[in-house]
Amino acid sequence: MSLIFALFIGLAIGSFLNVLIVRIPKSENIAFPPSHCPKCGNALKWWHNIPLVSWLLLQGKCAYCKSPISRIYPTVELITGLIFALLAMKLGLGAEWFVTSLIFSLLLALSIIDFKYYAVPDSLNFTALGLALLAPLFMLGWDLALGEPKSFSFYQDMLLLKFKDAAIMALSFFVLGFAVKKIIKKDALGEADIIIAATMGALLGFPLVLIAIYVSAIMAIVPALFARNHMVPFVPFLALGTWIVYIFSDQFIKWWGMIYA
Ligand SMILES: [Zn+2]
Repeated sequence: MSLIFALFIGLAIGSFLNVLIVRIPKSENIAFPPSHCPKCGNALKWWHNIPLVSWLLLQGKCAYCKSPISRIYPTVELITGLIFALLAMKLGLGAEWFVTSLIFSLLLALSIIDFKYYAVPDSLNFTALGLALLAPLFMLGWDLALGEPKSFSFYQDMLLLKFKDAAIMALSFFVLGFAVKKIIKKDALGEADIIIAATMGALLGFPLVLIAIYVSAIMAIVPALFARNHMVPFVPFLALGTWIVYIFSDQFIKWWGMIYA
């Protein structure tokens, strides 16, 4: 039951994510004007705007002018729905589930924007980092609302650890980017990558974040070999690596423990 609930919340958030993906790179207001067809400009009715369902019923075409609607929209909605549902299985419903789901939703939006524009908006990037850093405060608020908070030092320790891990990752990526730039005389790691590395540090902590960077880099190598100029957008790989390591964190911690026992 809670899985279905989580899936529907995710589909709705995914629908909003589509608005962000289309409008933020063009510096448009995210609330006005209301959703409209980019071709004919007709405003969408609410029944044209139901996640997944509307796209299927309209068979991927605008209700007015019949111009095709990109498959990206229902895909983003479906993936966001799955993010919320799978994290509900792992974490159970609550503040940690909701905040973590939002962070991964933002990483999904950043990935798609990076694929399209080879650049990501700071606004979404910093929002993800802020959520990752302040997650313990949301958890405290939730636990207080339920009337069953843990000791305050629990949230405080978690908060400090997240800031520390984020700072270490940001600094490491900054130094790495600086060194690589000196060697190959090209920008390899941008400001956006540094912010995402900080988010990954806050979200995963050590040693998981190192495994996630490693997994991301391995996945990026093959497409980079075949890409023009060997340039691939790195954000989608960082996001995917973070997702894989987060979902299978217990397994990765077990392997890590076996190696360093
Ligand atoms: Zn239209």
